[in-house]
Parts: sequence; C-alpha cells; structure tokens
Amino acid sequence: MNATLSPAEILNWLRETDPQRLEELWRRADETRRNQVGNAVHLRGLVEISNYCGRQCAYCGLRLGNRKLGRYRMRAEEIFAAAQQSAELGYGTVVLQAGEDYGLTAGGLAEIIRQIKGETPLAVTLSLGERPDENLKLWRAAGADRYLLRLETSDRNLFEEIHPPLGDRECDRVGMLRRLRNFGYEVGSGIMVGIPGQTYASVANDIALFRELDLDMIGIGPFIPHPETPLGNGLRFFPTVKHEQVPNTELMVYKTVALTRLMRPDANIPATTALATINKKNGRELGWQRGANVFMPNLTPLKYRRLYEIYPNKACIAERGDPGHGCLSLRIQSIGRHIGKGQGGRRKRQPTTAGPDQKESCHA
Ligand code: SAH
Repeated sequence: MNATLSPAEILNWLRETDPQRLEELWRRADETRRNQVGNAVHLRGLVEISNYCGRQCAYCGLRLGNRKLGRYRMRAEEIFAAAQQSAELGYGTVVLQAGEDYGLTAGGLAEIIRQIKGETPLAVTLSLGERPDENLKLWRAAGADRYLLRLETSDRNLFEEIHPPLGDRECDRVGMLRRLRNFGYEVGSGIMVGIPGQTYASVANDIALFRELDLDMIGIGPFIPHPETPLGNGLRFFPTVKHEQVPNTELMVYKTVALTRLMRPDANIPATTALATINKKNGRELGWQRGANVFMPNLTPLKYRRLYEIYPNKACIAERGDPGHGCLSLRIQSIGRHIGKGQGGRRKRQPTTAGPDQKESCHA
C-alpha cells in the first residue's frame, strides 16, 4: 500500500470528526502497523534519573522556576539497578530520561552506559535534552544506542515562546536530530498535541517532518497543563483563531498517531504515558490499535517517581516496585498482540529499497 498522504489529506484527517470515517483511518493505520512492524509490542524500561533542570520550558513541571518541586538525582548504583530490573523483566531497552541536568556529568553518565552495555543485553536510549555534541559523541562511544528529543512543535515561533533558549545558545532541535543521526544514534522525536497556540496546519507540518527526517521513533502525547507552569496556570497567552487551535484531546492524539504510522510506516511509535494518563482505562490499547507498537513502563524507583512531575496525575505513579508487568502483558494479549522480544530497534530495510514509499513488508 502506498501510504503517502498529501499535506491537504493530512489536514483533512486531522479535522475529521465523523466516527465512521475515522474508523477507516484507524483501520489503515492498524494494517500498516501490522504489515510493517508486526504484532509485537516492544517494552522499554523508563528510568527517570534526575528531575533537576536548567531550562524554563513553559509547559513542563520540571522547569527551573518551579520552586515547589523537590529535586532528586539518582546515584550510579541506583541507575544500574533499575537497568538490571529492565533486563530481568525481559525488556530489551532501558531509557534514561531526565531534565536538562548538567549535574549529570558527561563522564559520569558514560561510565553508567558502559556498565549497562557491558553487563546486560539492553539497548540504551537517552533522553536528556539539548546536551552539547561532545557529550552526545562521548555517550555514543560508551555504547548508547538511541536518543530521544522531541520537537514538541515544528512551529518555530511557538517553540521559541514555550522553550526559551539557554543563554545565547540557539535551540535547533531539527539540527540536533540530524547530528545525532550522523553520530550513529537511532533517533527519536515527537510532539505534544494541543499546546496552546498550536494549529492544525502546524501538526500537519509536524507529521510531514517526521517523514522527512526519517525518524526511527516518534512519541506523541497530549499536552497536559501543569499548574506550576506558565502554560498551566490559566493564562492563555498564545491566542489562536478558535477553529485553528488543536485540542489536547485523546481523539486528537489518536489521529496524529495514526497519520504518523501512515507517513512513517516502519517507525517505532509508543502509546505514551501522557496518553495513558488522560485515558487510564484503555488509552494504551487504543493507541496500539491505531498505529502504536511500543510502551515504556516506568521503572523509576517509587520514592522518586512522584517527583518526576512533568505534568500532574501521571499514569503508573502509584504502582508498586513491581511495575505491573502482569497487568501490562494482559493488556497486550487482550488485543491479540504479544510482548516483543530482543531490543526492538528499527529494522533497517535492504539498501536496495529506494524510499519510504517503496518499502515492503518484511513480515511475509
Ligand atoms: N529534558 C528532556 C526530557 C523532557 S520530558 C527533553 O527536554 O527532551 C519528555 C517529554 O515530556 C518532553 O519532551 C515533552 O514532550 C513531554 N512533556 C513535558 N511537559 C509536558 C506536559 N505538560 N504535558 C505533556 N507532555 C509534556
């Protein structure tokens, strides 16, 4: 199936509200997912290693200006123990995520990465913000496999409003994603859906950009207001024309996920925690049935988990040390899928296949 959609078609689908027409979109996304990446749901153990942050993002509860948040930084032994737990649970990947915390030194982290790579079979994914190239190269040399850095939005003006620069350093996340690829990482990005000021046209553009950047992983979640942030305290200081504002609804996230699957057929796409947060009952399952093929169970030690409050009422916050693995596998089985084995990285296609359009299923 040629999955390419024109910008106008993407825009039309994003605005679609008719449930019957949307069934068609879900069906196409699910079929593409099955043909391209199969029925496995890959699990990545998420370890939130520090909630210190030097940035002032207008959306995020970890922002430097949030004085109400107690801060923590995990010790090397704690990080390694959490990674081991990921391996013991059979997850193929550990994701180390944090605020942009320069207290996490490049050398210290490289040591931890080396230890995880040396003593476990895990792929290591990093999500540590806009660190300098030297850090990124050092971590890659230490064995890190993947890096996640969301665009948040491809609308430059909106991005600059919600993500002030650090000193005089320019924020060029697209440039950083390209460099990460050159350094040898598998590269992930994504957006929040429903940021105040975000338009349908800009989400259509985000989806086109996912394809242009040939992203390996794409995370899409709803924007969830945090009361201790400029975007969450009721001030609507990014007015858009009403009918242009993208809502931060579950439905809008599913549409974005499904269209992303059509435009980036073999990408790894998680049903995000933010999606699970706004529909704790079956947000994950609906995500997996509308294009997604990954989940990132939270393996952050319980004493820290509550403090990694990027937005309020995060799903899984109260689960015990056991991250509810049994419940997760039941959820996956209940929709006729199974837990993926191995690292679950992007399967690179034969070099002979020309472009994304010509790629064929490797699940004959
Ligand atoms: N410091 C890292 C990790 C940030 S947390 C970085 O900047 O890349 C990971 C993601 O959480 C962010 O990229 C953002 O998309 C999401 N996030 C942050 N605040 C949010 C909010 N209020 N609602 C929904 N998602 C949010």
